[in-house]
Amino acid sequence: MSLPIIDTFGRKHTYLRISLTDKCNLRCTYCMPQEDMQFMPSKWLMQADEIEELAKIFVDMGVDKIRLAGGEPLVRKDAGDIIERLGLLNTSLTLTTNALLVHEYVDNLKSAGVQSLNVSLDTLKEEDFKKITKRDHFYKTFDNISLLLDEGFTVKINMVVMRGVNDTEVNDFVRLTLANERLHVRFIEFMPFNGNEWDMSKIVSYAELLSGISNEFAFRQLPGEAHDTAKTFQVEHGAGTFGIIGTVTHPFCSSCNRIRLTADGKLKNCLFDTSEVDLLTPLRQGEDVRPLILTHFNRKFFAHGGHMAFEEKQAKSDYEQNRKMIAIGG
Ligand code: SAM
Ligand code: SF4
Repeated sequence: MSLPIIDTFGRKHTYLRISLTDKCNLRCTYCMPQEDMQFMPSKWLMQADEIEELAKIFVDMGVDKIRLAGGEPLVRKDAGDIIERLGLLNTSLTLTTNALLVHEYVDNLKSAGVQSLNVSLDTLKEEDFKKITKRDHFYKTFDNISLLLDEGFTVKINMVVMRGVNDTEVNDFVRLTLANERLHVRFIEFMPFNGNEWDMSKIVSYAELLSGISNEFAFRQLPGEAHDTAKTFQVEHGAGTFGIIGTVTHPFCSSCNRIRLTADGKLKNCLFDTSEVDLLTPLRQGEDVRPLILTHFNRKFFAHGGHMAFEEKQAKSDYEQNRKMIAIGG
């Protein structure tokens, strides 16, 4: 086994998130900027063989969990092949998806041993779904969440909570978790990325979320695991759980174990750090990319790519230069 990926703060990085594409069949306002997106030409993208080769290198360096994301990972024509190849590695494998195409991949997911998927859904109202995603696919998403549950998968719904947009629906999402032990909801604080018109006033904070939920439900906090991004709770007599990912007001950087690989093969050591290292070009030239990986993680900041407070002027100019969320991979 090669050297593990440990940064100067002693954090061991064991969780690899691979973006398969920057393309998507939705246009969520908080993720994809409103101006016309220029997508990466396909020759820039890592090919299935290259994804597999890089994943094997990371596994050799201690990675034990891989998540595929995007853009929408399932719009890639070879997504089924990639899922099956990565399923053969000695890691757990999972996906973050908007679920629109999952019905085409149920067999691939099962044969790759995927047990749990994160699915983005920000509203339970058809009209608001159209406003948020700019597409009319609410029922398809909802039906595919049901399909995944019927097929035995665990589903974690990711809801980005935005003031004045969908914040009045939080308790309706909590209610979804009451009856099914394989259905969980994660409320995510709205995060700043290039072009997504973020500002602090649009965040519904961790504390506000808990207070609003406690107006309707009695719940308890569940014990967490070392690298959890969400604090997890369960309503009394509820079957599933709800969690809050408080990236902005409750950062979890001190236990971060995440490695991000963009669809064009760039390594990011933090979602919010603008610096990247190209792994794909050296890989194509037959070079060993391990030293590049170790050096890049040796430079990792303690928190938020060097910023504790997102509203600071310097942080703002940084996240405005960072990639758009759709091109990083969630
Ligand atoms: N297309 C897939 C999906 O929507 O699940 C995967 C990619 S998406 C970029 C990954 C996750 O990032 C989604 O759960 C999405 O809600 C989240 N996300 C995107 N932009 C965000 C933002 N500005 N703040 C918080 N979460 C965000
Ligand atoms: Fe697409 Fe997911 Fe971004 Fe929405 S959040 S635009 S579904 S990549």
